[in-house]
Amino acid sequence: LPFDQREGVIWYDGRMVPWTDANLHVLSHGLHYASAVFEGERAYGGEIFKLDEHTRRLHESARLLDFEIPYSVEEINEACNAVLREQGYSDAYVRPVAWRGSEMMGVSAQHNMIHLAIAVWEWPSYFDPAQRAKGIRLDIAEFRRPDPRTAPCKSKAAGLYMICTISKHKAEKKGFADALMFDWRGYVAEATGANVFFVKDGVLHTPTPDCFLDGITRRTVIDLAKRRGYELVERHIKPEEMEGFEECFICGTAAEVTPVSEIGPYTFTPGNITLTLMNDYSEEVQPKQPTKQMAAAR
Ligand code: PMP
Repeated sequence: LPFDQREGVIWYDGRMVPWTDANLHVLSHGLHYASAVFEGERAYGGEIFKLDEHTRRLHESARLLDFEIPYSVEEINEACNAVLREQGYSDAYVRPVAWRGSEMMGVSAQHNMIHLAIAVWEWPSYFDPAQRAKGIRLDIAEFRRPDPRTAPCKSKAAGLYMICTISKHKAEKKGFADALMFDWRGYVAEATGANVFFVKDGVLHTPTPDCFLDGITRRTVIDLAKRRGYELVERHIKPEEMEGFEECFICGTAAEVTPVSEIGPYTFTPGNITLTLMNDYSEEVQPKQPTKQMAAAR
């Protein structure tokens, strides 16, 4: 079912509106000039994992694009929970998006209203579950993550996804599940919607997030690895180093922890560390306290 024809409600500028009425004008600044930022969150057992961190990043993403979302972090958190409840899902994906409206047309948008919408839908697996189990295959993208002097690379800004979509489409046409992007200097950066980790001789290696998103899942995985006592190094990784890595996985809110079996000419075998962190992550995202929803089900 197309995304504009689904059922339920969407939180839109402070109100719950029927799903099919959550529209905007074609002359919205956000559409023409990419003045839009968004979040991707997952709810497990009726609770949105690290909701407050996501909402704070949404605020910060907007600030980096020189606009301020006219709702507080608390108001947005409450709105996310309200849509989740209204939609009646216990496990779901939550998508807040903020953009500049249509009061002015042109690059300058000093007086445009800032809008915020929050939609919730079921999105069980980001990658094909059959592929995911044995490790997904990644293409190497032609486009690179931009220099921080070129774009606000710490913002989860819609505009930064243009090259991700192009790279992902190219990869899919060649039969790959996704693409790995290098950064502007040529170091390994991230996938089109997830961060990357490698394992060699029992040590985890992950790129320093100095020009791409320092994912909330990435930070969670680092925390889980430390709790396991694994050694972890954040550093610049040259593409040719991938030759010597034994395991590889990507991680993100949508992708969760997904093993990788191939990146271009390099091959990996999902092993003990990847599988342990996959399981630890699945446990970590579950609500720690029984939620009202779960209590009611008992
Ligand atoms: N990099 C990119 C480009 C992404 O789109 C995402 C998903 N938001 C991530 C990394 C991972 O971020 P997170 O773990 O916060 O979802």
